[in-house]
Amino acid sequence: MKNKYLYIETFGCQMNVHDSEQMAALLADSGYKLTDNMKMADLILFNTCSIREKAAHKVYSELGRLSKFKEQNPDLIIGVGGCLAQHLGTKFHKRVGHLDFVFGTHNIHRLPEMVASAQKKRGKITNVDFHKSLNSIGIYAPPVNGSISAFVTIMQGCNNFCAYCVVPYLRGREMSRTPEDIIEEIKKLVDCGIKEVTLLGQNVNSYGKYIDNGVNFAGLIKRIAKISGITRIRFTTSHPRDLSKELIDCFAEEEKLCEHIHLPVQSGSNRVLALMNRGYTVEEYRVKVDHLRRVCPQISITSDIIVGFPQETQNDYQETIDMMEKIRFDSLFSFKYSERKGTVAQKFTGKIEECEKLRRLKQLQVLQDKYTLEKNTALEGTRLELLVEGKSKNLESDLTGRTSSWKIVNFKGKQKLIGELVNVKISKAYLHSLRGEIIEN
Ligand code: SAM
Ligand code: SF4
Repeated sequence: MKNKYLYIETFGCQMNVHDSEQMAALLADSGYKLTDNMKMADLILFNTCSIREKAAHKVYSELGRLSKFKEQNPDLIIGVGGCLAQHLGTKFHKRVGHLDFVFGTHNIHRLPEMVASAQKKRGKITNVDFHKSLNSIGIYAPPVNGSISAFVTIMQGCNNFCAYCVVPYLRGREMSRTPEDIIEEIKKLVDCGIKEVTLLGQNVNSYGKYIDNGVNFAGLIKRIAKISGITRIRFTTSHPRDLSKELIDCFAEEEKLCEHIHLPVQSGSNRVLALMNRGYTVEEYRVKVDHLRRVCPQISITSDIIVGFPQETQNDYQETIDMMEKIRFDSLFSFKYSERKGTVAQKFTGKIEECEKLRRLKQLQVLQDKYTLEKNTALEGTRLELLVEGKSKNLESDLTGRTSSWKIVNFKGKQKLIGELVNVKISKAYLHSLRGEIIEN
């Protein structure tokens, strides 16, 4: 039988990256091999994001380019999944005429069936219903040969309804997988050589709230830490309001839990945080940061900030800058507010001009670069443990690894170290990485 090839283009967050891994795993069972050459593909999937307007535009422009592929090869199948597909549903077919199927965030498990129908040319397909089952997130994706880290989805959806955000509308309500399910998946991953897992969910701190077995997120971490073969546990994303004392204490008690937390603050102004419906104040956020740093002095704290939210005054913005000065995040993802259809903030008055949003963003990013470099420079001369991930992207002869605190370190070392924990002395700090020299154990 002739090989069939699958090409997947992924947009957006780690959740989407992992969804794409699950899609590839499902379609491998139908005989599709992954290729990174779009021209070779018999099936092209776009896994889309619509968190900001820019992400959605990128999807449309890249999808437009596929019409000539379809003209050259009428048997080529093209499918679109992810958040933008969930949002547009059948309208996607009207907007992009050469699509065969559109599937939403709860319908990944139906991919083989959609591909089979498209092969039989049964007409345009759309599957965007929400389901109460966890079918679409419990799909096991065997790791690529040689990988040492893997994502594990522990829950889907979000109940928070932050005023700017489309996620609750596009990924549905919060649902958690059972601890047994998650642990079984991690054990399988360990058998394939995985040493580090990143637990994924939009709001992992509320894991378990809606399943009746008494295991919360801290409890889940403690159970995963008992799995032999797992050396590191990470998670993302944490909502500051739901970050419990018990979870913070895990950073002191659980050796396998990495010294890093991504804790999106969004703004340094209490007025804006209330408008955003975030459910905490800057003071409450700072108490949690102080607690984290007390129990785990080495912890690296990263965050997300949105500038130019409706009604954000120069004074509110200045409060964000002041907060950054006090907290000193290790690094930051910062965004201009992007209006999303159907969200509460869409109806707000006091929208900020694009050029003003851009000015605020640029100023904030220059400041953060300074703090990031300062944080990295403070590590020069220190000894850190790395999990070696592979060859460096910049220099073939170098290896690259990550510290427990999620910093990238490049160093010279033998290939056999890939997948191992090694100690390095940091010799030089840069903005986006560190340079290290290996220390013989
Ligand atoms: N669930 C996570 C949380 O609450 O922290 C974040 C999910 S979202 C995929 C990642 C980030 O995108 C958010 O933390 C926020 O900073 C940003 N974001 C979400 N909606 C946005 C919007 N409409 N405009 C600009 N940035 C947005
Ligand atoms: Fe969006 Fe807020 Fe839910 Fe994060 S917590 S996914 S920002 S609604």
